[in-house]
Amino acid sequence: MKHTNEMEIRFDSRSANEGFARVAVASFLTQLNPTVEEVADVKTAVSEAVTNAIIHGYNNEIHKVDIRCRIEDNIFTVEICDKGRGIENVEEAMQPMYTTRPEQDRSGMGFSFMEAFMDSLEVESETGKGTRVRMKKAIGKGREIWTTQSL
Ligand code: ATP
Ligand code: MG
Repeated sequence: MKHTNEMEIRFDSRSANEGFARVAVASFLTQLNPTVEEVADVKTAVSEAVTNAIIHGYNNEIHKVDIRCRIEDNIFTVEICDKGRGIENVEEAMQPMYTTRPEQDRSGMGFSFMEAFMDSLEVESETGKGTRVRMKKAIGKGREIWTTQSL
């Protein structure tokens, strides 16, 4: 049988909550015994998605951001959802250096970082309805032998 565990958090789309979201997710991840690098990767990816929800999804207005995390054996899944403006063309938005806010010093690299730091990235979005970013990462790749020996 698979070992599973889940958690959900909901918070206001204030930039003050970006750090909270990052640490809350990292703290849930701890039970998989991640390396420092794996934790840093997940934190960076979650930060990028939460920042996007706050500044693009909600245009800095205060609404709710939802995060769901799921552990299934060593696979960590995190979803970041907003009910904001949505993305017209997801494929285009995910291109490196594509940004709709160049005037705000945005580099358009958020999705590229999420893709680089996680094993998979899926974006579902509907204009006027919101955006759901789902990312997965296998924790402990290459450490299976160590795990078996330590049992
Ligand atoms: P950076 O992340 O480098 O600061 P950026 O946020 O513009 O810049 P990405 O994170 O890659 O770059 O996002 C690309 C574009 O996708 C954004 O400019 C925005 O138009 C759109 N986008 C991303 N997330 C959302 C969201 N949650 N709601 C609405 N639009 C979004
Ligand atoms: Mg971004």
